[in-house]
Formats: sequence, structure tokens, C-alpha cells
Amino acid sequence: MDNKIASYSRISDILRCLESTADNHSSIEICALIGYSQEENLYYLSFENNISPDPRNFFCISPARYLKFKQSYKIIAIFHSHVSGDEKASPFDIKMAENCCVPFMIFSLNSRKFNFYEPQNKEYDVNLVSRFKENFL
Ligand SMILES: [Zn+2]
Repeated sequence: MDNKIASYSRISDILRCLESTADNHSSIEICALIGYSQEENLYYLSFENNISPDPRNFFCISPARYLKFKQSYKIIAIFHSHVSGDEKASPFDIKMAENCCVPFMIFSLNSRKFNFYEPQNKEYDVNLVSRFKENFL
């Protein structure tokens, strides 16, 4: 998948893009980083290669690309799709979200629903994330 990055003013457009990209790559978990630029008042969506050895059941994003994104934008969530099962965070997802202290956003191809998991330790702008979540939960 291309590592394309795009800006959005509307959260609904981000959701639509995530949904259609997940549909177009339905054999693997797709992943993306969602951020925000205060200066521009725009949301940013960057699709990332899933570098997990088992991309149908797990996902992994390049740590270098993750750090670079976090330097450019305020992080809102790390996104991935679920090929099978529902939109709930798996035990593995919860562990990873807790480790990086950033919300995980999930879309299930099965249930057609989004879910948002916020970790106990929050190393992100809580108000920004609440505003983002209000638009789709
Ligand atoms: Zn997952």
C-alpha cells in the first residue's frame, strides 16, 4: 500500500477513506496514523505498510515512521482494520495501546463498525481526542 498522507477538514471524510481502503485490502489488517495540525486546523491521515509477519491477524507499523509522524502532528490514534471478528480491541491491541500510551482505532470489516480504545496512561491531547471521537461514536 502507498504511504500516502492526506489532510482533511472533516472527520467524516477520514472515516469514509479508512472504510473504503479497508474494503480494498480485505485480506490484511491495514494500518494508518491519524493526527492533527493546530496551525492549519486540519486532520492528517497517513496509511502505513503493515510490516507484521502475520498481517491477516496482526499489524505492525515502522517505529521510525511513527516517530516522524508524531514529530509533525499531534497524534490522535493508531488505526487498523480487523479482517475477521468484531471491532473490539483484542488483548494484543490493548497491550500495545497501553505500551505506546496512544489511542487505538479499529474498523471491523465484519461488523462494519469503528471502535476507539483509550489507554490508561495518556500521552496525547485528551481534549483533541474527545472532539475527534464525538464525531463518530
Ligand atoms: Zn486488532
